[in-house]
Amino acid sequence: MNREKNKPHAAEFPGFRPTHILLHYDEIALKGKNRIGFEKCLSASVKRALRGAGPLAVHRAYGRHIVELDESADREVCSRRLRRIFGLAAFTPVVRLPCDLDALESYLDSLLEGASPRSFAIACRRANKSLPFTSVDVNRRLGARVEALTGWPVRIGRPDLTIHVHLIDEHAYIGLERIQGPGGLPAGSTGRVVCLLSGGIDSPVAAHHVLRRGASAIFVHFHSAPHTSEASLEKVRELIRRILPHGHRARLYLVPFAGTQHRIIARCPAPLRVVLYRRFMLRAAEAIARREGALATVTGESLGQVASQTLENLGAIDRAAQLPVLRPLIGLHKAHIVDEARRIGTFDISIEPHDDCCSYLMPSQPATRSTPEQLDAAEQPLDVASEVETLLAEAAVETVDGGD
Ligand code: ATP
Ligand code: MG
Repeated sequence: MNREKNKPHAAEFPGFRPTHILLHYDEIALKGKNRIGFEKCLSASVKRALRGAGPLAVHRAYGRHIVELDESADREVCSRRLRRIFGLAAFTPVVRLPCDLDALESYLDSLLEGASPRSFAIACRRANKSLPFTSVDVNRRLGARVEALTGWPVRIGRPDLTIHVHLIDEHAYIGLERIQGPGGLPAGSTGRVVCLLSGGIDSPVAAHHVLRRGASAIFVHFHSAPHTSEASLEKVRELIRRILPHGHRARLYLVPFAGTQHRIIARCPAPLRVVLYRRFMLRAAEAIARREGALATVTGESLGQVASQTLENLGAIDRAAQLPVLRPLIGLHKAHIVDEARRIGTFDISIEPHDDCCSYLMPSQPATRSTPEQLDAAEQPLDVASEVETLLAEAAVETVDGGD
């Protein structure tokens, strides 16, 4: 999926059995004095994700991490899980050899024998500056060897096959593909947020975006049982499994919302209902944030997408909040959000039919331009603090694990 376009898969070279995986990061490398903390978070995240895929060790070396694979480690499973590790810009499965050009040549001889013709390039990176040869020397010498052996043409720009050579300490690491990761910052490196997760398309994408920025998430979902079904809760759990990397877990608050909705419907003007639902959701999410030590809430709102997401309504919703409300999708088109949902693997779950607590008892003419004063007045017949207390008291809390 994330493989470089037109690049061969390592599986086309049956003799290639990686002993290690090199992990590359981009943004963490720019972190100056704080870099070590980010690197530790990444290490911990990688170790958690790869647990159970074979006994492994993860070392740090020269601005990258090196995962050591046990003979029994499942290479495919490791690659699949690493593709979802936030903070990883890319990774390269590699074979470790002595840092010796003769040894590299004879390894390539055996590896490439019988492989189908293609243009190629050698891409050497030298972390060990004390070696008696440069990366250009390596490119030239190994390039000439492969050319002589196979007759393949060298192509520097967009070759069919790039043979990656990394020289680190006393070792050389050879890889055949650089696989993209999600990039961003490692899980847990930037703080805790509460993500409001409906069963729809947008909120899982919003949650993904903040997780990719290194946040760790507490999820909250409001349901209207018995008017909404158990299946809609299972859908939310499945969305979380797809958002979280393997080996990571998050708490999910399932909050019964029907009581609050009924009181809003009975006592407040119908056109303001949806915006009032949102204000109570946000207040309850903030109460959860305070309990969990989270510093912001996250929603999937996007400007003008529906009646409750006009600037006026978003502003009126925010007036009920104390903490920052993060809206990562605010400026994105729906088509873009759908593409993202497909890419991160939540789309097919989000479009499964489900009962949404807000479409249930939707007013026919929702207000598009409410004001905070109007909403404050509309809430007069309700006891706001005790509504929020009840929502929290009735919440069921569970833990959901990242999927594989
Ligand atoms: P989504 O696709 O995420 O459902 P939407 O475009 O349908 O979003 P709304 O239904 O107006 O928009 O919801 C706006 C945001 O409010 C959602 O993105 C989500 O963050 C939050 N939200 C809505 N309903 C719920 C719910 N039942 N539980 C938790 N959060 C919700
Ligand atoms: Mg929705």
